[in-house]
Amino acid sequence: MEWEVVIGLEIHAQLATKTKIFSGAPTTYGAEPNTQACAVDLGLPGVLPVLNIEAVKMAVKFGLAIDAELSNPSIFARKNYFYPDLPKGYQISQLDLPIVGKGELAIELEDGSEKIIGVTRAHLEEDAGKSMHGNFQGQTGVDLNRAGTPLLEIVSEPDLSSAKEAVAYMKKIHSLVQYLEICDGNMQEGSFRCDSNVSVRPKGQKELGTRAEIKNINSFRNVERAINIEIERQIELIEDGGRVVQETRLYDADKNETRSMRSKEEANDYRYFPDPDLLPVVLEPELIEEMRASLPELPNAKRDRFVADMSLSLYDASVLTSSRELANYFEAVLEASDNKEPKQCANWIITQLLGALNKAGLDIANSPISAQQLGGLLLRITDNTISGKIAKQIFEALWDKEGVDADSIIEAKGLKQVTDSGAIEAMIDEVIANNPGQLEQYRGGKEQLFGFFVGQVMKASKGKANPAQVNEILKAKLAG
Ligand code: ADP
Ligand code: MG
Repeated sequence: MEWEVVIGLEIHAQLATKTKIFSGAPTTYGAEPNTQACAVDLGLPGVLPVLNIEAVKMAVKFGLAIDAELSNPSIFARKNYFYPDLPKGYQISQLDLPIVGKGELAIELEDGSEKIIGVTRAHLEEDAGKSMHGNFQGQTGVDLNRAGTPLLEIVSEPDLSSAKEAVAYMKKIHSLVQYLEICDGNMQEGSFRCDSNVSVRPKGQKELGTRAEIKNINSFRNVERAINIEIERQIELIEDGGRVVQETRLYDADKNETRSMRSKEEANDYRYFPDPDLLPVVLEPELIEEMRASLPELPNAKRDRFVADMSLSLYDASVLTSSRELANYFEAVLEASDNKEPKQCANWIITQLLGALNKAGLDIANSPISAQQLGGLLLRITDNTISGKIAKQIFEALWDKEGVDADSIIEAKGLKQVTDSGAIEAMIDEVIANNPGQLEQYRGGKEQLFGFFVGQVMKASKGKANPAQVNEILKAKLAG
């Protein structure tokens, strides 16, 4: 039997506001437990929530960026449930009329084609606190610092057909919210998390299969692994005559398995109703226009511009625009190298720099080589001061902080390229004189030996001879 996989994601992006969504308490991460929760976050009686306009603006920005319909007005609802980290006994969220309605987003598939993924909705809600199970013998601690932190929950249509597609979509959203500067994207700190809904159905069947929801997976790698293992589990279960039950499951990364956590609640279990403490949110046209004007160039527009204006390949342009920081770095390198060779800049960043960063476990934000340094280095290749090979040596030296810029390293180590044709000729004459055997073979028709002679000359010049000149002069001399 052939199976088809159906996946929908619910992504929680913590909005980068200074204060909470309904109170003035700060949202900074990592403070002492319970030092950043005020009376509103603690759910004390007699207090009223006041909506933080910054959270609204950020949600609107997101909606505009995915071409979504905005609900105007949108309304807040109470989602009722009991848990120690939720002192009010309800979470303020949105059900009907979420601030962001239907929108869409294109992802790139592995074969280079695009697929449009529907976004069902994105709604505003408050985060809960955290239960802390360590360090309290036989007891559980509750930290309410996170209570009331604004979240944007972004719900996708069940349009994703594999774990790879789910990760590509998640990365797209992750990059977008950072481009928009509405979320810091920090997955370790939980600022960006994802629940995956997974089901399978026989190929060709119209109705969706029963889904399981895998909660709170905190890395791209684990999303992929969790979904794949869940797909395997469901197929095996059905093929053995069993049935998938709708439930919430937990992913255990150590054992690489999903485990049942609880049966799935239905919306009516939560007794949602409009929050009487909060007015409907009316978006003034001026606010929407202000947000539209504040949108940065979005990833796909940037990618297409890199392709059109700089003749970069679609692949290179996609890599360079995968994060706003990387795109900014690329543009800064280009500028620092006098905008001469966009392709060269792209190659060096993608191959050399990203390769080295990856190996060192660093990302572009903490690159040991600044865009100015790299641009300055590339400029010296373009103006023929150094060869590409020497440039790689200087790259290493810059990485190891052996100089402030390429020029000072070239100067200090005497790496300037030899372009004096007299000097190159002298080296070539010497190499030819020292290798009479190879010369005879070459002249006898063994033309592959040309590379040998180039190698000898480059060696004699310690890599500093201008390769184009070496080629030209060598060819003439060998011909006799
Ligand atoms: P809830 O809010 O109860 O989790 P929703 O109906 O809002 O449920 O759906 C949540 C997510 O589950 C959405 O991303 C949706 O695309 C996805 N989804 C719904 N049905 C299925 C299914 N049968 N298989 C896979 N994903 C599904
Ligand atoms: Mg859900």
